[in-house]
Amino acid sequence: MEEVSCPLCEESKGEPLHREDSFQMVRCPSCQFIFLNPRPTSDSLFQFYQQYLPEGETSIESWEKMMRPVFQRAASMLRQYRRGGRLLDVGTGFGFFLAEMKKSGWEAEGIEISQKAMDYARDALGLTLLPGPLEKVDFPDRDFDAVTAFYVIEHLPRPIAFLKECHRILKPGGLLLLRYPHTTPIKNVLQLFSVKNHFYDLPAHLSDFSPKIIQGCFERIGFGNCRHLIGGYTLPHDLEKRTASILFGSLSEALFYLSGKKLLFPGVSKTILGFKNER
Ligand SMILES: [Zn+2]
Repeated sequence: MEEVSCPLCEESKGEPLHREDSFQMVRCPSCQFIFLNPRPTSDSLFQFYQQYLPEGETSIESWEKMMRPVFQRAASMLRQYRRGGRLLDVGTGFGFFLAEMKKSGWEAEGIEISQKAMDYARDALGLTLLPGPLEKVDFPDRDFDAVTAFYVIEHLPRPIAFLKECHRILKPGGLLLLRYPHTTPIKNVLQLFSVKNHFYDLPAHLSDFSPKIIQGCFERIGFGNCRHLIGGYTLPHDLEKRTASILFGSLSEALFYLSGKKLLFPGVSKTILGFKNER
């Protein structure tokens, strides 16, 4: 474990917010970013992700079922803006989203750090993934029409460096789509009732972005025309989790559309979309 300064502004080591077992989420008093501190070192995280994804055929299948509604929504969202082109999916896991995009005519590449996931994507889906992390691959400037990353940014020790790298490899006008969890509002409510939970998923998640903070990062780095969506919800295998996901997912979708696409229900995962500024 190592103690760090705020990954966004480096102004502070943060003030305690929530605990899960021995792990502590803190809030930066200058920029309000919420992050894990202290946190595992980069080396130990890399080791951890070799084993992070579920093992065995049944859990790969249930993972696919869980993610399918979110992938389908993202795919149809991308089709609204682009008919095809070069797409990079970062943290592609077993490759189901990539396979879907390839089928609809995109020239799609993926990056993954788990060897197990890469083997599956190659053997079962015939995809070729590059070993990550993204910064080590060294793509040329302005190489892609779209970059996607589902549930990746909350795992990254240097989220700003990651967003800058996405910006660099996108063509002007290119599209960045990120899917991320937003857990703090739920934690705040449960704390009122002293309900124990592990919703932050520590120490796997190093941070908890709010829609406002992530959009601020997008704009600072050079993405414009940013928009947020609820973007569907996952269908976990576990009945209790699935029921909660369907309930809160449909409620938040309904409120989003009823409010004229303004209300982003707190505490559920969201999708953000931004376009690389032309100059
Ligand atoms: Zn900060």
